[in-house]
Amino acid sequence: MKKYDVIIIGAGASGLVAGAVAVRRRQRVAIIDMGENPARKVRASGGGRCNFTNQAVAPNRYFGKNPDFVRGAIARVTPDDILEWAQNHKIRYVQKNPGQYFCANGAEDIVNALMDDARGADCYFGVSANDIIRTNGGFNILTDGGDFMCRSVVIATGGVSYPNFGVSDFGHKIAKKFGHKIVPVRPALGPIRCNMFPPELSGISIDVVITIGQEKIHDSMLFTHWGLGGPAIYRATVRDQNDFHINMAPGVDVYEILRIAKRDAGRKSVAGVLSEFLPARLARWICPKPGNIADYKDSELARIATQITDVILSRDDIRPMGMNTAEVVRGGVDVADISSKTMESKLCPGLFLVGEVLDIAGDLGGFNLHWAWASGRVAGENV
Ligand SMILES: Cc1cc2nc3c(=O)[nH]c(=O)nc-3n(C[C@H](O)[C@H](O)[C@H](O)COP(=O)(O)OP(=O)(O)OC[C@H]3O[C@@H](n4cnc5c(N)ncnc54)[C@H](O)[C@@H]3O)c2cc1C
Repeated sequence: MKKYDVIIIGAGASGLVAGAVAVRRRQRVAIIDMGENPARKVRASGGGRCNFTNQAVAPNRYFGKNPDFVRGAIARVTPDDILEWAQNHKIRYVQKNPGQYFCANGAEDIVNALMDDARGADCYFGVSANDIIRTNGGFNILTDGGDFMCRSVVIATGGVSYPNFGVSDFGHKIAKKFGHKIVPVRPALGPIRCNMFPPELSGISIDVVITIGQEKIHDSMLFTHWGLGGPAIYRATVRDQNDFHINMAPGVDVYEILRIAKRDAGRKSVAGVLSEFLPARLARWICPKPGNIADYKDSELARIATQITDVILSRDDIRPMGMNTAEVVRGGVDVADISSKTMESKLCPGLFLVGEVLDIAGDLGGFNLHWAWASGRVAGENV
């Protein structure tokens, strides 16, 4: 049986950071991953450019039963710390939107830096962890590559979306075995199915504001063959489930524009007027009738305006496309029984949980990887 001080299960974003920090503290560390390569989701992240942090990191960009749980870790590891780490590794980065950081040369730079930091750890790739048994001095880790012993174990097995990358619910099973509650998992940060819009609109992208409860999301939305996607929809799906109110013409007083057109340019078609601020294909779908705008009653114009500025998708009609296309999951190990200062289980000393396996999901924009780096580093400092 191989013996270590610390064993990390999962060589993804959070596990590699936890391992590297533990190595720096002169612990004997093993990192076990069922994949043949490390950090496969990091490699694919941000469309291959890895959106690795965001200056707007704050508890209100995280979701779960208790998003405030992130407060300690994100205060300990700030976006500036991550930028400094990137600079130390000579990773060139760019801002797509202000404060949103991507690798200039591709996600591979981040993966190489993570592996470089974790150099002192023994890495076992292509090895699945199957069970963890509590012993007097720590844990036995049963894997399909033999058994391991350690004093502390870090569960960094991630979420279960994008199964093509090789995912497992091992982390949830082990947490449950040691008495933790699991918040049911659902896809988040992904497209949705809805039959409100026809496939003919697919490919159109527009600026929208989606109101969910008290919150307004201003971003772009994409019409797809099956429903809706794009950043605004991705971000909406990570919020608590509620109706979406979509304004497809934010900042435009649609009724006023239609009314003025009726008065001053009565021979125009409604679709023609709408296409001054909406894509023509969408405008024609909203009002396919030819005819002059002058022939419309004001009440009809008001109804058309509402059809544009307050599209209501009721929570029951919002059907995520599924795990195959969701960047993360909502749900996971309930943080109620995890220390936010150390990431250690309050129910099983020596067991640490980090990253997406926990019931913490971040907004689109680099918040999930930031959580992985921050929680991984905190665990590495405490194992
Ligand atoms: C397509 C895509 C794009 C994304 N883009 C971004 C982005 O640009 N910015 C951002 O912030 N976030 C992004 N995310 C989300 C981000 O990648 C994840 O939130 C993050 O990787 C989670 O880190 P983690 O360490 O918790 O888990 P992961 O990085 O998923 O790592 C978990 C590891 O555990 C291993 N594992 C699982 N079970 C076992 C087992 N039983 N035995 C051994 N090993 C096991 C897996 O093989 C995997 O390597 C994206 C996600 C996807 C899918």
